[in-house]
Amino acid sequence: MRTRLLILIAVAVLLTGVPAVLYLAKSAPAVPTVAFSDFIQHLENGRVAQVTFEERQIAVALKDGSTLTTIAPKDFLAANAGFVTDLVRKDIRVDAASLPDPNAISYPAVLAGLAFFGLICFTVYRTTAGRIPSMSGRTRVAERGDNIVTFQDVAGVDEAKDEVKEIVDFLRQPDRFSSLGGRIPKGVLLVGPPGTGKTLLARSIAGEAGVPFLFASGSDFVEMYAGVGASRVRRLFKEARRHKSCIIFIDELDAVGRSRGGSSLSHEEREQTLNQLLVEMDGFETQRGIVVIAATNRQDILDPALLRPGRFDRQVTVGNPDIKGREAILRVHSRKVTMEDGVDLRSIARGTPGFSGADLANLVNEAALSAGRAGRSCVTDSDMQEARDKVLMGVERRSVVLSEADRVNCAYHEAGHAVIAALLPNADPLHKVSIIPRGRAMGVTMQLPEADRHTYTKGYLETQVAVLMGGRVAEEIFMNHMTSGASNDIERATDIAQHMVCEFGMSPLGPLAFRKPGNAFESEKHHTVSEATAQRVDEAIRKIVLDAYDHATWIISRNKEAVRLMAEQLLEQESLEAHELKDILARANAKL
Ligand code: ADP
Repeated sequence: MRTRLLILIAVAVLLTGVPAVLYLAKSAPAVPTVAFSDFIQHLENGRVAQVTFEERQIAVALKDGSTLTTIAPKDFLAANAGFVTDLVRKDIRVDAASLPDPNAISYPAVLAGLAFFGLICFTVYRTTAGRIPSMSGRTRVAERGDNIVTFQDVAGVDEAKDEVKEIVDFLRQPDRFSSLGGRIPKGVLLVGPPGTGKTLLARSIAGEAGVPFLFASGSDFVEMYAGVGASRVRRLFKEARRHKSCIIFIDELDAVGRSRGGSSLSHEEREQTLNQLLVEMDGFETQRGIVVIAATNRQDILDPALLRPGRFDRQVTVGNPDIKGREAILRVHSRKVTMEDGVDLRSIARGTPGFSGADLANLVNEAALSAGRAGRSCVTDSDMQEARDKVLMGVERRSVVLSEADRVNCAYHEAGHAVIAALLPNADPLHKVSIIPRGRAMGVTMQLPEADRHTYTKGYLETQVAVLMGGRVAEEIFMNHMTSGASNDIERATDIAQHMVCEFGMSPLGPLAFRKPGNAFESEKHHTVSEATAQRVDEAIRKIVLDAYDHATWIISRNKEAVRLMAEQLLEQESLEAHELKDILARANAKL
């Protein structure tokens, strides 16, 4: 690539420099241009030896050997038909040859022309050399030595790692497998939500095996014009074949690999691209040492042809990490920052259920930034906690100024949530309560589960609805009014109740799946219900929410002191940690 650029620069220099030098050399003895009247004067004085016409321009050679040029007035020769005959009569040689015209093209014009030519060369270079043959804009090739990623950098996805280890062995010693007659999968499909480390895992396979890593994203192949995507696929595989062995990684495979069908232009284009991909995958021999790895989070919409043997026949699930996995990922990323001894990564891992690897990497980075902002030399436990809260609850918006009435209302609202969460046995433990606005919320009550939850009991869900109702109930009991601040709680509570009735079979309507009201599109798979049943579904949802509301009212009425104390403390401190909350509840003798 670099050589090509150098050649182009050399050509541009030759093209601009050589004519410029020639031009200067030639034009050095500049011929003076004189006024037409001076020429007539020379003529009358008998000093002119030769005249050469070219249109209005006249080159004059004088008898003393010098030369000059002049311009005749417009239509002069036409108006003075006898002028030339007079010259001949005076024994002056008259010529009408084309004149060497030193002043006709100016040097700046030559330069401008060449600069334009250079610009065209550069554009052509960008579009051809830079993009098409090697697709540097589309495919990123990470060669050996480029920031190598190995299995050590990927944590928390041990099963997935075990499954792909075989590919590393194969890429290292392809003969060992082929001599046994074994067939190594040509394609591996990594399935999992975004940020779980699919790209990282693919890179680490390349890193471990010491082979180049060709990266392309499915969306790069999706173009308006039929054939463009297909030709990009061809080029990607052509590039791959230049290497002895390598890994082709296609991110977001679903962008190109959706089930075929449909008639619009974009469908046609996608179909061509997908067909090309299938053809290319069938066309190369695994013995060559090329393995295609693709990532998607929508395996269900992929064209079945892609999943056939000989194509992406090996599927590896890369899920969100569990608590141990999260701790391991945090450890990997904390190696990259200066971390204080004794930072409790396990407790951070416990408090980040549902976080993906990318979220955890982001958390460590946020902590490092916050330590940097505070001028600390290493990342402390409190930086990590703060970063976790920031990722979980949104950034604190300290610049938002709340009126005193809003602050008081918010303090009682959050205290209402917190007291219910602290007292109900099924609730996740309280972690923090704050009345500093974060994101769109004016305050936050944060609970952290003790372990990752994969299923939810009816009691747990009812408790969640009751905790959500706690805010509204406290406002009513202490402030004697209702505010719009509870809207998000109400929405979430209704949503939980709806799931309980329509999907989880947790209502007197029994274990049946019902279509969620107002969401016909999403729940096509559920049974359509009669109008009478729909009414009963609505009633069941309503009952769950109202029962939770009554339960919350009962708890808060019995524990007014705890709510009041907590709200006052919140108004003073703005946020309360788990141990402070426990103290307050103990002081107020809170109980069910
Ligand atoms: P995906 O391809 O699944 O969307 P990526 O591989 O792009 O996710 O992950 C983004 C970043 O998140 C990685 O560069 C890495 O820093 C971090 N990350 C994600 N998963 C892991 C993991 N299992 N171990 C270590 N880091 C991870």
